Amino acid sequence: MTRNYLKLQFYSLPVNQAFARDAVAAFCLELNPSLSALSDVKTAVSEAVTNCTVHAYKGNLGLVTVECEIEDRQLHIKVSDTGRGIPDINKAVQPFYTTLPSDERSGMGFTIMQTFMDEFTVNSVPGEGTVVYMSKSFEAEVENA
Ligand code: ATP
Ligand code: MG
Repeated sequence: MTRNYLKLQFYSLPVNQAFARDAVAAFCLELNPSLSALSDVKTAVSEAVTNCTVHAYKGNLGLVTVECEIEDRQLHIKVSDTGRGIPDINKAVQPFYTTLPSDERSGMGFTIMQTFMDEFTVNSVPGEGTVVYMSKSFEAEVENA
């Protein structure tokens, strides 16, 4: 059974979005992922981390924590912040819902995470922070004949 764990913590600077996405992708490599599965994970992590920068801390400096766990062929990811939190999660996860339309946000981040990953849940306490949990199963490698 493959089991592995990674924890990253970094400032909510835009420059760290690519770092977080690529670090999680590198962590997945032991699963020999398809390019499409890898790209799904990178996009989902990017969206979750961007939300911490843009919404949770709104330009102030805060800490973003990304935890990953591999268990068998499943990748579990938790992205957390201790920012402003989300008052109505059901509303926030609706496609095209955004509280920042003026910044040309399209309100599709949560929808993208939901679509690209197998499991997706959000927990949030206003004033305390938000935790996004996602998981994805990776196909077993196909032997070449
Ligand atoms: P896009 O992701 O398309 O640029 P968006 O970020 O507004 O636009 P979502 O990522 O779907 O869209 O998020 C929907 C809304 O949920 C946001 O507009 C914001 O109000 C809230 N939200 C999302 N993540 C957080 C977070 N970590 N902390 C606080 N609020 C959040
Ligand atoms: Mg977003």
